[in-house]
Amino acid sequence: MVFFRSVFKFTNKRRAMAIVITDECINCGACEPECPNTAIYEGADDWRYADGTDLEGKVVLPNGKEADANEAQEPISDELYYIVPDKCTECQGFHEEPQCAAVCPVDCCVPDDEHVESEDELLAKQRFMHHDE
Ligand code: SF4
Ligand code: SF4
Repeated sequence: MVFFRSVFKFTNKRRAMAIVITDECINCGACEPECPNTAIYEGADDWRYADGTDLEGKVVLPNGKEADANEAQEPISDELYYIVPDKCTECQGFHEEPQCAAVCPVDCCVPDDEHVESEDELLAKQRFMHHDE
């Protein structure tokens, strides 16, 4: 997994995408407080678009999806910490590199090939969630 950390730090023209937590996660919890979008949740915990964002009530996401920001959503994992792809901006707009990956002791926060987005799309998502940033 050291390979992925090297990609973050040394490849300028990498594709942008959300981050995913692999099943190598040891549930240490170090990543959760570092996320500027509150996109990381403990396994089995519900998540909400409104958590840690300026979103309230009915919203239409930049990807066209409609949602109630205050409604509790099903956990993506019941056993391991997980990242909500709709809330992860790869830390764009806040930090130079993904903070979860930077603190993870086992390097299990890796680029999510299932959710490839451009840097512009990630920044638009960040602005959508944080109106005053
Ligand atoms: Fe949160 Fe940044 Fe990790 Fe995405 S990359 S889950 S925004 S800390
Ligand atoms: Fe899992 Fe890494 Fe987060 Fe710890 S820092 S909970 S090992 S993803």
